[in-house]
Amino acid sequence: MEKILIKDVILDGVTQDILIEGNLITEIGNNLKKDNALIINGKGKAALPAFYNMHTHSAMEILRGYADDMALMPWLQDKIWPVEGKMTEEDVYWGTKFACLEMIKGGTVLANDMYWHWHGEARAVQEMGIRMINGYTVLDLLDDQKLPQIKEEVQKTFEESHKYGDLVKFSLAPHAIYTVSEKTLIWTTEFARKHDLNIHIHVAETEHEFNECKKNHGLTPLAYLDQIGVLDSNVFAAHMVWLSDDDFEIVKKRNLKVIHCPVSNMKLGSGIFRFQDYQEHNIPICVGTDGCSSNNNLDMFEEMKFAALLPKISTRNPEIASAEEIFKTTTLNPAQSLGMPAGEIKIGNLADIILIDLDNINLIPNHNLISNLVYSAHGDCVHTTICNGKILMQNRKVEGEEEIISNFKRVVKPLK
Ligand SMILES: [Zn+2]
Repeated sequence: MEKILIKDVILDGVTQDILIEGNLITEIGNNLKKDNALIINGKGKAALPAFYNMHTHSAMEILRGYADDMALMPWLQDKIWPVEGKMTEEDVYWGTKFACLEMIKGGTVLANDMYWHWHGEARAVQEMGIRMINGYTVLDLLDDQKLPQIKEEVQKTFEESHKYGDLVKFSLAPHAIYTVSEKTLIWTTEFARKHDLNIHIHVAETEHEFNECKKNHGLTPLAYLDQIGVLDSNVFAAHMVWLSDDDFEIVKKRNLKVIHCPVSNMKLGSGIFRFQDYQEHNIPICVGTDGCSSNNNLDMFEEMKFAALLPKISTRNPEIASAEEIFKTTTLNPAQSLGMPAGEIKIGNLADIILIDLDNINLIPNHNLISNLVYSAHGDCVHTTICNGKILMQNRKVEGEEEIISNFKRVVKPLK
């Protein structure tokens, strides 16, 4: 069993050692010793739980900066989908490798993802060593005649999904209510229940979606999904901006997992997430970046800052969304929503750890580390990234990064 001993690192404000054995944190204390352990000098660094990015489309790295300053529907229909239609599995493979590189460099070790060419993503993620809940995108453009073909493809991909190791998990990602027919949504739900899988779906992202759903079904998007039986505790709903007051009761009743994407919502002008209402209903929130075309990066530090600022301006209350609370939306809340022993550095938890360089200029002075991380820092303050007990980055170097960057540039070129 591999062992890593992090010596003299700041943890919860105190200098301590952390022992990792296999993929778990097994000891925390002073003057720890372990034979055959790889020693990491933690001096001048702080140990924190690594980030879990709960909504993204990794290979959309390819589309960074390709189509900005547009509303969601023309953006999807005129710009994004035509290019995505031309992407090959190889493009997605390198796009995902590049996304993993960006995530590792910024201290992120789990992506709750939804994209095309499932195997291309899975292969890339397995090689890079992060965790991914890899959502198989289900989309029939409201034509349920496509369901038999979707069934066949989902079944086949699910059966093949186990060969990518423990860190890559299969999930089902019906895109949204405006792109997936009711029949297909219901089948997707049944398949997920039968095989104990998560569902990852965009819900109530725009006012247009909200109004169309009311017009077509007489219900809000959330109430509609509840009525057709989709909503349950295995459903990870991204965006969740346009909710009626009654919808919050549905979220609670179904123990729905809520993913807030502040930058994407602001960039696409989708609307303002009702942070205070979620808080008043005691509904935990996770945060995600969304894809690189609507963000345009995967930096969880930046995302935390926006997640903290948006509720303050929308309620004109600077006391809402504290740094401590927001830090949990990228660490403890995602881990709990996924039922994983993670999100905090403690004995018995998975060894998903980042070491922050306390000499990074954005972290000086260090009156309050969490405040610095949420309001001041960027991904470049991460010195070391460890996922599942494996070092993925040390001293900001990731193995094979030059090759990833050059191949990524190669696959991007012909898409222009
Ligand atoms: Zn999205």
